[in-house]
Amino acid sequence: MEPLIIDGKRISKEIKDELKEKVADYKKKGIEITLAVIQIGDDPASTVYVRNKKKACEYIGINSKSFELPGDTSEKELLELLERLNNDSSINGILVQLPVPDYIDPLKVINTISPSKDVDGFSPYSVGCLNLGEKGFLSCTPAGIVELLKRSDIEIDGKHCVIMGRSNIVGKPMASLMLNNNATVTITHSHTRNLKEICKTADILIVALGQKEFVTSEYVKEGAVVIDVGIHRDENNKLSGDVLYDDVAPHCSAITPVPGGVGPMTIAMLMYNCVEAVEI
Ligand code: NDP
Repeated sequence: MEPLIIDGKRISKEIKDELKEKVADYKKKGIEITLAVIQIGDDPASTVYVRNKKKACEYIGINSKSFELPGDTSEKELLELLERLNNDSSINGILVQLPVPDYIDPLKVINTISPSKDVDGFSPYSVGCLNLGEKGFLSCTPAGIVELLKRSDIEIDGKHCVIMGRSNIVGKPMASLMLNNNATVTITHSHTRNLKEICKTADILIVALGQKEFVTSEYVKEGAVVIDVGIHRDENNKLSGDVLYDDVAPHCSAITPVPGGVGPMTIAMLMYNCVEAVEI
């Protein structure tokens, strides 16, 4: 049977179009939404991410205010800017493009952003809300994956979800979100024993390893749903994921491609959080 190829491009566009309407309604009431986007240095990958985020803002009707700081900006200067933005009532959301230079502590940065403007959902407050099942900003990539599943009519309730990876930005918040959606959740990592056997018990396998094409059909139960979070770019700029797609796809009921699967959802959910920020 041919698997359903989950179309992240289409679904992310659907979400952005819904948000565009919402933002237009806010504008009619005189409410503007503004996202502050901070980049330190000129790392090419970060520049592309920042550009795409600003483009999405423009599409939806959210104002973006750019802060392109030199590569030698001190931690103190960055934290002072964040404090100013926290206290600026015209700014609804604050985003610091990660990674920051080595001499800046990313945790300090995340902790300084006001929880009410934490549109990346990385702050301890946002993570705490997620773990308690309370309303708060959701980490964008995991939230995007739940949207992909729901909008593809894939049931989560009661399913066994195995998450490969336990990072703070994908694996852990993903586990909390799937748990909040009534999945039975297993998290695996580099110390996990019998990895293949565990993965083979998954109804939904979410792969966030950062290891190119690591997951083969040997890890996948017949008819499972496979979500590939990984992004790898080769010397010819060709993208691939953590899943060996051609080997795995024939065994799945549904699968996300790379590119065009999870990738586009992260920015769509960032935009969702920016719109939510108005209500907070
Ligand atoms: P991290 O490197 O922070 O985490 C990787 C996780 O995978 C760790 O928990 C690690 O275990 C585990 N792991 C690595 N190798 C193995 C292995 N051989 N066996 C079992 N577990 C293993 O990565 P991220 O979570 O930040 O990102 C994962 C991937 O997703 C990357 O390719 C990244 O580029 C991509 N990504 C894509 C996004 C998108 O928008 N589509 C957004 C964010 C990330 P341990 O903890 O024990 O070290």
